[in-house]
Amino acid sequence: MRHPGRGATPYPGAVTIPSLEALHAVGAAQQPTYPDRAALDSAVARLRTMPPLVFAGECDDLKDKIAAVSRGEAFLLQGGDCAETFSGVTAENVRNKLRVLLQMAVVLTYAASVPVVKLGRLAGQYAKPRSSDQETRDGITLPAYRGDAVNGFDFTAESRIPDPQRLVEVYHASAATLNLVRAFVTGGYADLRQVHTWNTDFVRGSVAGQRYEALAAEIDKAMAFMEAIGVDTDDLRRVDFYSSHEALLMEYEHAMTRIDSRTELPYNVSGHFVWIGERTRQLDGAHVELFRHLRNPIGCKLGPSATPDDALALATRLNPDNEPGRLTFITRFGAGKIRDGLPALVEKVTAEGMNVAWVCDPMHGNTFETANGFKTRRFDDVIDEVQGFFDVHRSLGTWPGGILVEMTGDDVTECVGGGEEIDEAGLAHRYESVVDPRLNRVQSLELAFLVAEMLRAAERERA
Ligand code: PEP
Ligand code: MN
Repeated sequence: MRHPGRGATPYPGAVTIPSLEALHAVGAAQQPTYPDRAALDSAVARLRTMPPLVFAGECDDLKDKIAAVSRGEAFLLQGGDCAETFSGVTAENVRNKLRVLLQMAVVLTYAASVPVVKLGRLAGQYAKPRSSDQETRDGITLPAYRGDAVNGFDFTAESRIPDPQRLVEVYHASAATLNLVRAFVTGGYADLRQVHTWNTDFVRGSVAGQRYEALAAEIDKAMAFMEAIGVDTDDLRRVDFYSSHEALLMEYEHAMTRIDSRTELPYNVSGHFVWIGERTRQLDGAHVELFRHLRNPIGCKLGPSATPDDALALATRLNPDNEPGRLTFITRFGAGKIRDGLPALVEKVTAEGMNVAWVCDPMHGNTFETANGFKTRRFDDVIDEVQGFFDVHRSLGTWPGGILVEMTGDDVTECVGGGEEIDEAGLAHRYESVVDPRLNRVQSLELAFLVAEMLRAAERERA
């Protein structure tokens, strides 16, 4: 049943929310150790009283859109920072990110005539899993930075102590971001008539920017034509834009999971779409246990260590009713591994008739450290992984449903390559990410044009 009515049970046990204690008893990976238990309890109690950031009905709308992705009728664009920061919650930062995402979405939509589902990796992306619990610099070892949701980035003992009050701050920072995003996307900024103004001076000077100008001019002409023949273009004044983050911290995500008053079903109201990371997807772990109860559209990362049986077991456990749009697998193999690793997963899940949307994260399998000490990614590797993803899906007759990218609306130098030919020495110029390297605005637009060509080919194949 797609939309269970009042009181209906989609499957046994799913109408309840497991207790926080039960989740911890199951075992949650990647959680901070809070030294002050009373402070943690009071932060959680405060969060439980806060209003929802998103509504269940919005989550259902997004689920319907992702169902279209899983049927091969739409493409998902998910993008934003690896880790948001509290100091990054400024009008300029949010607007710049949104602007580039809107540009990318227009490029993809126009090139392939496929609807693009727009999902920001924002308004909640504050907690990070880490490969090591500790960080050592110049012989000093401190707890690792786990995102602004947990501790401070400054390399001092005091700043690295997990502070539960930060969870409340995540809520407020997410609310402020989402409020601004909602104003932008409904208040005229996302109007297709503004398509030129999203192209800032900086981008306009690049090859991708010039290409975008040409495309925007075509869109203007199409709009003028539609208006001339009397088509109502009012719908083009606003876009649907959704929020997403990795739901990592049990205390926060549990406090924000509520029974919806209309459907009496559990939703995580901290974001429209939440996902499980590569390090927390244990089948018997707390994240899978919490997520299987959620009625939001959810994602789960799959890296090179995932077997076809793992993927199938996760799909069965996370989406037992096989509800379309509910589950998205976000694969992150690395450019060198995707062509060998992905087919078996897709084949198995497809053969079993599971409804999933397949999304490519071409970032997390392609990270390396340069000789001068920067964590970076090569633009060409990112593109190669997306190409591999499209190739695999073409050979299997399945739909390459979307991409997840770590990007920013600013002129940073964190990934090497791209049309501006950023080299390793050039990374020092403006490296601002506190965790993973992001594509800058020109690289993001370049990626959109390249993916648009792949999408056009896939669309031709499908038609
Ligand atoms: C991420 O998306 O920032 C991330 C940590 O990814 P993964 O879980 O795939 O490593
Ligand atoms: Mn990341």
